[in-house]
Amino acid sequence: MKRKLIAGNWKMNGSLAANEALVGALLAGAGEPGCEAALCVPAAYLAQVRGLLGNSTAFALGAQDLSAHESGAYTGEISAAMLKDFGVRYCLVGHSERRQYHGETDAVVTLKAQRALAAGITPIVCVGETLAEREAGQTEAVVRRQLAAVIHTNGHCISEIVVAYEPVWAIGTGKTATPEQAQQVHAVLRAQLQAASAQAGRIHILYGGSMNAANAAELLAQPDIDGGLIGGASLKAPDFLAIMAAAR
Ligand code: PEP
Repeated sequence: MKRKLIAGNWKMNGSLAANEALVGALLAGAGEPGCEAALCVPAAYLAQVRGLLGNSTAFALGAQDLSAHESGAYTGEISAAMLKDFGVRYCLVGHSERRQYHGETDAVVTLKAQRALAAGITPIVCVGETLAEREAGQTEAVVRRQLAAVIHTNGHCISEIVVAYEPVWAIGTGKTATPEQAQQVHAVLRAQLQAASAQAGRIHILYGGSMNAANAAELLAQPDIDGGLIGGASLKAPDFLAIMAAAR
């Protein structure tokens, strides 16, 4: 059976000292986790966190973004191959904060997913509607459009991706989608993936948006919720470990 995946998104948080304390507490508390887990850390700290994780199999290393370009004159960009050099296994792609503040379009997100896959990194493709889109009844159309772009270009290896449904109105706001609201969208995404690949059952579809130790179990009990993408609560070891425990 597919184990659930709990991925932490540290966003632009951390310091050498804080990371050491956080990873130390996670390693001390994780034991033999009953789920897959990943830490998506700022690029500047990939080497440090790789070192802190050592030989631990409890947590995979993740990044938060990568370049849509392969290599060359793209100042400030970080390529998929560079991430791979640091042992990165997962990379967030198309997080709503990238779409919102950095103008990432579906086309750019698709290219980034393609770069990750080509380098042997699993892209965690984020999709989700804004509050205005939900209120206008466009949730399904928006997430289907965002995922369709990635399927269109990467259909041959679509079973290698992870999808994260993150309603934008729930990210960092303390407002969580109800388990029913989340399940409804996850079922739509699952059907779309199934139409694209016979292997779609393998694909993890994560829920993200103010998931925490108190609401994780109920969300993770939904049939099409295969894990969580955790922002704020991933910065506190007891909270992240409690979410991991709920994912057993
Ligand atoms: C996120 O950043 O992907 C996220 C889900 O954040 P939070 O858990 O803080 O809402």
